[in-house]
Amino acid sequence: MQEPLVSVRGVRKTYFARQSPVHAVASASVDVARGEFVSLLGPSGCGKSTLLMMIAGLEKPTAGSIRLLGSDVVAPRRDIGIIFQDATLLPWKTTLENVLFPIHILKLPVAKYRDRARELLAMVGLTGFEHKKPGELSGGMRQRVAICRALIHDPDILLMDEPFSALDAITRDQMNVALSEILETYRKTVVFVTHSIREAAFLSDRVVVMGGRPSTIILDMKMPFPRPRRFEIEETQDFAQVCRQLRLTIEAAHGHAPPAQTAPAGPSVIE
Ligand code: ADP
Repeated sequence: MQEPLVSVRGVRKTYFARQSPVHAVASASVDVARGEFVSLLGPSGCGKSTLLMMIAGLEKPTAGSIRLLGSDVVAPRRDIGIIFQDATLLPWKTTLENVLFPIHILKLPVAKYRDRARELLAMVGLTGFEHKKPGELSGGMRQRVAICRALIHDPDILLMDEPFSALDAITRDQMNVALSEILETYRKTVVFVTHSIREAAFLSDRVVVMGGRPSTIILDMKMPFPRPRRFEIEETQDFAQVCRQLRLTIEAAHGHAPPAQTAPAGPSVIE
């Protein structure tokens, strides 16, 4: 059997920066197969970003191991692309220059990637905006540029940390559809952090719910919706039911509601 592209095994993370240690992730094990879209879902503070940053090699686990493409993660690496909540574009550079920025950093031949940058920008509907500066773009447009920048060096893995949570609800819905379309063209393995149940259900092949105190993985659930996905699936009974189950699982783990009948006591996989 093929080794998973991302393999997280018995990972724990404790921060010792403050007076008392913060147990950000008590225990997490999760595999992501090539081409799979997996969301880490849970309320704020349950360790989603910490787990993502460990996968990115930007934080070190206190215990456990993380492997990407068959090798241990010991430092940041070039086979990943990262997208954060804020687009973090360089304000003095144009759209095209921002997309090409990783190529400069990686010391690759910029001329060779210019066409790819234009193709990516066309894919996200930004043809004609190549020479605009970030200040001239809307929030949704800036996040589209950030997606192109993350894809420019053709990484195998995309790591996304709440990339659309600062956008208004309508733009966010549009970005969800745009991201689905981008991934239909540029097939990638994605780990996506969100606290939006709807967003996780819409985008993902699997939703991994984190929660509890201290935080662990409490549910690993396959999304039963066929692809390509468009807005309409959100109006179906199946979609509502999946969202309900995710919500009840989160509430049960945080004591906001009586435990749901379907909420598992420990990690479980629902096909
Ligand atoms: P989430 O992404 O689910 O909102 P985080 O991973 O950001 O959660 O944080 C999990 C916990 O770890 C929180 O209690 C947070 O305050 C703490 N934490 C995150 N980063 C640090 C850090 N660098 N130093 C100390 N504590 C941290």
